[in-house]
Amino acid sequence: MASPPHLPPARLTPEQRRAAERRLAEVLGGHLGTALRIRLGRSRTQPVQTRREGELWEVRLHEAFATAEPDALEALAGWLRSGRRARKASRALDAWLEDHVWSLPSARRRVAAGTPRGEVHDLEALASDLWSGFLEGGLDDDRRPTLEWGPRRASRSRGGLRLGSWDQATNRVRLHPVLDSGEVPAWFVRAVLVHELLHALHPPIRDARGHWRPHHARFQAAERRWPDHERARAYERANIRALVRRARALGPSPEAP
Ligand SMILES: [Zn+2]
Repeated sequence: MASPPHLPPARLTPEQRRAAERRLAEVLGGHLGTALRIRLGRSRTQPVQTRREGELWEVRLHEAFATAEPDALEALAGWLRSGRRARKASRALDAWLEDHVWSLPSARRRVAAGTPRGEVHDLEALASDLWSGFLEGGLDDDRRPTLEWGPRRASRSRGGLRLGSWDQATNRVRLHPVLDSGEVPAWFVRAVLVHELLHALHPPIRDARGHWRPHHARFQAAERRWPDHERARAYERANIRALVRRARALGPSPEAP
């Protein structure tokens, strides 16, 4: 396949995206002889993801596939059918991804504040098994908080840093973007998530003097049951100054051109 210097694809309008998803579902479904649902997204690290929902295959693709040539789609279909066993298709697909996705000028994934998906840590993924495990029976689906990263902007704080928050009114858990870093281990991000989700599970109570107490006895007892709780407190103590420093230097993510 030729590899001209590629410009990043223009952002698709919602209509263009839906039309491209339909067309790709038709073409790939034709190759594979099965019904597919296509979702176009912007993940560069996982430009092709598949999952089966009963009879239906859902395939998430980088939106560069919206303008992929027929031979690239054929390679993709070969890979979907047989994975790495389809050697020729795999090589062709890798080459296509290299030219059209991995080599796009902005090396960093575009990350929108207000979504659970960070540059490094995906909050939905980190929380995914909590509701069937540690927090099981805690909250019905429709009462579970939405998860999001806070906006990337420099913090003015010199002292403490609010690593996470739960907003009772909007039922939203928000984590500080300084945690969305390869230097911060996933287990720690998860411990911060657990802390905030426990706030949703055990909302603040009013003490005898009328003060709201978020970290009341039941909350603390629940949090102590989290296996990484002590380790997370120690990590926070050891790293909070470095986190504050990094938060002060945070700037917005470079926009995708
Ligand atoms: Zn708290």
